[in-house]
Amino acid sequence: MFDLGGRVAAVTGGNGGIGLAMAEGLARCGASILVIGRNAEKNAKAEGILKKHGVEAASVTADVTNEDDCAAAVDAAKEKFGRLDILVNNAGTNIRNVPHKLSLADWQTVISTNLTSAFICSNAAYPLLSENGGKIINIGSMLSIFGSSYGAAYAASKGGIVQLTKSQAVAWAPDNIQANAILPGWINTDLTRQARIDVDGLHERIESRTPAGRWGDPDDLSGIAAFLASPASDFVTGTAIPVDGGFSVNI
Ligand code: NDP
Repeated sequence: MFDLGGRVAAVTGGNGGIGLAMAEGLARCGASILVIGRNAEKNAKAEGILKKHGVEAASVTADVTNEDDCAAAVDAAKEKFGRLDILVNNAGTNIRNVPHKLSLADWQTVISTNLTSAFICSNAAYPLLSENGGKIINIGSMLSIFGSSYGAAYAASKGGIVQLTKSQAVAWAPDNIQANAILPGWINTDLTRQARIDVDGLHERIESRTPAGRWGDPDDLSGIAAFLASPASDFVTGTAIPVDGGFSVNI
């Protein structure tokens, strides 16, 4: 039911953090992986890590905010593996500031990296995904649900991810494509490392509000990714699933 043997997954931002952990989850179930990221050195390292799971892995250096790069990444999947079954739209960034001090350029960077990228990459992948039926996994956040004084662009992008996911689920159901979103809680990665340094008491605040009593590890996302990529989730579409140790259900 969770077997991904013979399937091919492309993971944007799959060269580190949550993206690499999810890619490893898919590889452990037998999927071949295409890593998509900007940093060629990190891409090559991730490829090596994924191959240790006994699957084929390749990488493409691409900026997911660029339509031509996304098209080239999908072409690479076709060329290297002959097919594409799973797309994980995970690449993301954050620029923290209160709304009235956030420049338009910073707003646009966050929206295009976190939201427009998922639109572009999914559309580029659609023809291949629809050949055999497929899976789209979009990565949201707790800020798909909550607001934050320092996270206007990030929250707007991650709220948008949920609505994009629902629309893809409805539009592409006739093609046997399931689209779902994962909303990670607070996970220990490069993205949150700086916030923990900058924001006094953040580490402890998250720990005490999270019923599980800890920050998440990237590997906490690998199981849900494998589920949403596998035949086990063939009747699951348009959902947004928090993976947060209970953070979002605790007042
Ligand atoms: P990291 O900073 O560790 O990883 C971000 C990844 O995105 C990198 O692999 C990076 O690759 C890639 N990336 C960023 N911009 C681009 C771009 N323009 N083109 C291609 N790749 C790009 O962050 P996380 O692992 O923490 O975050 C992964 C996802 O999870 C993001 O969408 C984030 O918003 C989300 N998330 C994270 C949470 C957390 O607590 N950490 C919580 C909720 C959601 P490269 O370096 O090569 O550019």
